[in-house]
Amino acid sequence: MTFQELGVCEPLLRAITELGFETPMPVQEAVIPHQLESRQDLIALAQTGTGKTAAYGLPLLQRLATQPPATSAETDSQGSEPPTRAVILAPTRELCLQIADDLEGFSKYLPGLRILPVYGGADIVPQLRALRQGIHIIVATPGRLIDLMHRGAARLSAVDTIVLDEADEMLSMGFSESIDAILEGIPEEHTTLLFSATMSREIERIAQNYLHDAREVVVGSRNEGAEHVNHIYYMVRATDKYPALKRVVDYYPKIYAIIFCRTRLETQEIADKLIQDGYNADALHGDLSQQQRDLTMQRFRQHRIQLLVATDVAARGLDVDDLTHVINYGMPDDTESYTHRSGRTGRAGKRGTSISIVHSRERGRIRDVEHTLHKDFERGTLPSPKEICSKQLWKVIDDIEREEVDEAQIEEFLPEVRRKLEWLDKDDLLRRVVSREFSRFLRYYANAPEIEEVVPGEKRKDQKNGDRKGGRRTAGDNAPEEGYTRIFITLGKVDGFYAKEIIGLVNNRCQGPKIEMGRIDLRPTFSFFEVPEEEAQRVLSGLKGLFVKGRRIGVDIAEATQGSADGQPAKAGKTRKNRAQRRFEQAQANGKKGAQGKKHKRDANNDFAPAKKKNKKDDWQQFFKTK
Ligand code: AMP
Repeated sequence: MTFQELGVCEPLLRAITELGFETPMPVQEAVIPHQLESRQDLIALAQTGTGKTAAYGLPLLQRLATQPPATSAETDSQGSEPPTRAVILAPTRELCLQIADDLEGFSKYLPGLRILPVYGGADIVPQLRALRQGIHIIVATPGRLIDLMHRGAARLSAVDTIVLDEADEMLSMGFSESIDAILEGIPEEHTTLLFSATMSREIERIAQNYLHDAREVVVGSRNEGAEHVNHIYYMVRATDKYPALKRVVDYYPKIYAIIFCRTRLETQEIADKLIQDGYNADALHGDLSQQQRDLTMQRFRQHRIQLLVATDVAARGLDVDDLTHVINYGMPDDTESYTHRSGRTGRAGKRGTSISIVHSRERGRIRDVEHTLHKDFERGTLPSPKEICSKQLWKVIDDIEREEVDEAQIEEFLPEVRRKLEWLDKDDLLRRVVSREFSRFLRYYANAPEIEEVVPGEKRKDQKNGDRKGGRRTAGDNAPEEGYTRIFITLGKVDGFYAKEIIGLVNNRCQGPKIEMGRIDLRPTFSFFEVPEEEAQRVLSGLKGLFVKGRRIGVDIAEATQGSADGQPAKAGKTRKNRAQRRFEQAQANGKKGAQGKKHKRDANNDFAPAKKKNKKDDWQQFFKTK
């Protein structure tokens, strides 16, 4: 199939041929002839990188170039019919710019068509001025378009086509109401084209409310990640995540990747560590100014940064086609985010790899994604130091071989260099060149810590028989999972203290990135919960001095106890108890019920004032809100 066979007109054909488009991509085959022939609404599930801009852009441009505006278009309150015929909504400024740029490229031989990108976070005055010149296609972020409509600058009474590009992104960025308002602000007679990478309930709502008799086009299958992406995961201990990341990155000397983290703080931390360790990396997250983010994105697009550490939200504005890898530093909370992340590689016909560095607790999330994408993840084995060093060495040698030497320029310096190095033979010289280029890796990997890959249910290598830490639990075994610390707290189910409350309490009291909670073990008057080893001190500090209902709450690291000989669970803290456990149990033994009934003198300091006649869950909610 050719673009000509799809019905694309000559001026457009000429332009896209110059852009290097030879054959149509699947979404283009599905959408272009349909949109050229009919004005039926369309909903397309297609990711960025599938060629969707041309899929809706080419028929739109062709129609604007060949058909005059519908005569029924109302004359608006300003007495003249505004020229704007189409609106394209997109979630970010970068995407608006890119779409407008693509459309400009396609319409190179269609003179007179004016296309304008307008977006928030930029001075509105030039946009107002540009709109006054008469714009045929407005490419906008929803919030800014509403603003321009309110100012009377964007007049949409002649609009007959609206495109919602990356609709799922727009909804998840909170543009739902703005989209509703825009769709209500254009004439009833119009065609709506909705493009989304995923089909969420909210997308279905928009489709139901605003699309009529829409044709559905699915590129790949529903909710499927890019076809050309391999999904690999490495399961390691929480403390080994960063060294594992280094190994992955070192194994691919030509890597060009986004490393996704879950929080802004983690993003900055990982970027800082990578930079400190000599990588060409930078951070992209919402705590940076728009100017900083623009600069970082520009440098990444130009390949001047090799590794971009980013949050999901900040990376939304970035569109690059040639990522070799997407790295998930931990799995995202939902499948949609994973789909978006992994869909950033394997674009434009190339193969890509989505690597996830995860802890054993994230296995469930991998299964969820496998289930939704109908794709299996491959469990990877981290490359060994030797394999990495060989790869890096090969790159050094390869680079030397490919080095373009400007002989004329260098010639005049060579006699001096020869004189200075004449005592070295060729082999010595080689050794020195390679060592110089390669020493960072040799040094690191000579002493690199061993990374043990976690196989759920298997014992850790560094543990003796009978020490169940990290292995499968048996009755009576209350050792934390590997990489985790078990914490004891004198709050239990009778206090209305359940898993949700524990997670809320810990994360409300502890500043900094969200703490990924491990196993929670609830008892009537006390509980245990597990947090990553490296977070244990932060959690203890955060919960220090906690008062609930006039009662001081004891929190401490729980001591592991062995299961009893008959295989029944041992009583918590039966063998080696920590201070909080001992005091707590003593108080209970003294009939004080852990001092629960006793009103504490420091009521003014109460973290959790008793709320009469409320159920305990409400109490906790109130507690969280006041923090
Ligand atoms: P999009 O999904 O619209 O962001 O397009 C992804 C990339 O593929 C862009 O760089 C387009 O210029 C390019 N592209 C779109 N259609 C084709 C085609 N038929 N042949 C080659 N490249 C294309």
